[in-house]
Amino acid sequence: MNAEIISIGTELLMGELVDTNSPFLAAELAKIGVEVRWVTKVGDDPELLREVIERAWERSDLTLTSGGLGPTSDDLTRESIAAAFGEKMTVQEDLLVHLKGLFAERGFPMPETNIKQATLIPSAESIPNDHGTAPGWWAEKDGRAIVAMPGPPREIQPMWASYISPKIKAQNPDVAIVTRNLKTFGISEGGLDEMLSPLFQSKNPYLGIYSKQDGIHLRAIAKAATDDEAWELIRPMETEIRRIIGDGVIWGVDDDTPENLVASRLRSKGLTLGIMESFTGGLLASNLAETKGSSRFLGGSAVVYRDDLLSRHGVDPGLIEEYGSTNARVAEEMARAARKLFDADVGMAVTGIVTEPTEASGPVGTLHMGFAMGDDVSSTSGHYATSRLRLRSRASTHALLGLVRFLSGLPPQSLSLRR
Ligand code: ATP
Ligand code: MG
Repeated sequence: MNAEIISIGTELLMGELVDTNSPFLAAELAKIGVEVRWVTKVGDDPELLREVIERAWERSDLTLTSGGLGPTSDDLTRESIAAAFGEKMTVQEDLLVHLKGLFAERGFPMPETNIKQATLIPSAESIPNDHGTAPGWWAEKDGRAIVAMPGPPREIQPMWASYISPKIKAQNPDVAIVTRNLKTFGISEGGLDEMLSPLFQSKNPYLGIYSKQDGIHLRAIAKAATDDEAWELIRPMETEIRRIIGDGVIWGVDDDTPENLVASRLRSKGLTLGIMESFTGGLLASNLAETKGSSRFLGGSAVVYRDDLLSRHGVDPGLIEEYGSTNARVAEEMARAARKLFDADVGMAVTGIVTEPTEASGPVGTLHMGFAMGDDVSSTSGHYATSRLRLRSRASTHALLGLVRFLSGLPPQSLSLRR
């Protein structure tokens, strides 16, 4: 089965509204084994909309549209589908009663213009909208379908999950898609590509490689008649990947994030954390604050840039004088100072160069991370040649994964990456 997605709305063509519905639908269709061939964005123009819908109707088994189901005169999706099918829209009594009921619940009469939200064509059935007034349409003829859904993400996403996806799945009963995402850190994309090159030839499971903020992801996708059979295909590939690149390189799978790993380690060991960060400007604390139960383990973070303030917060000024403030030794001392400052079990620190390098500091993109617990201290360094924004988030990932290793008694990974 092949599919096409059409996002409808003039705002989408003016750069005012970012289309999130088509990526959402594309990812969802991939999960149920439907191949997307085209994605189109079109404005609320009757002629162009009709042209786009007619073309989709001719070339695609399944067409999904988002938007243009509202009550106003520029909401023309229904009219365009009716035209493509050559059918007439008529008001459905049951839909009208339901619609009027929704307005009555909100305490005001239904405007006349909303009546078109209660219409259907003979080839279409109505799809309930549990979060808005506009029902969807499932229009089907000669084994092909156009499914129209509302624009607001908070309406289309539940409609998809409750009604549309199960219906498409029921028409494709023998397709199960399973994915496994292995998240790595410490080997470059090119390096992994080379090490795993025979595996990239495989069609099913298919192996993809993606460079992300938190490292390089290896994603295997398998297609089979059942979930169990798809897992049977994926498991040997995962084993082979782990054998080739080594378990230490893979820090997480599927939905794992560096901050969630740190949070669960600290929580399970009952440890608290204090941070001193310059390079990351508060990002470490901010990322950790997003995690579950962060108030229990996160004592605090000091964002400190100036050398004199570092020493006021407990870093030996002699050390800064000797090495400058961007240095692995200083990072260790910052971690120790953070532990004391926040009365925490574990201290973590990041220092580095985002701008204005000096001879002592090394080039822009050099960072140093320190970790401290009890009398133990450890540090590691990294170098990234990338944009300023990415540098901060790379530094956060590197430091958080370094902390996970430190808590397990492993040496942190140092890293030098081009991107
Ligand atoms: P309404 O009844 O709210 O008018 P509708 O189905 O007619 O719904 P549109 O008028 O096209 O949908 O869009 C309504 C709102 O939904 C937009 O202002 C926007 O906030 C959101 N929206 C629409 N299309 C998209 C899209 N492709 N991606 C993200 N948001 C969207
Ligand atoms: Mg609208």
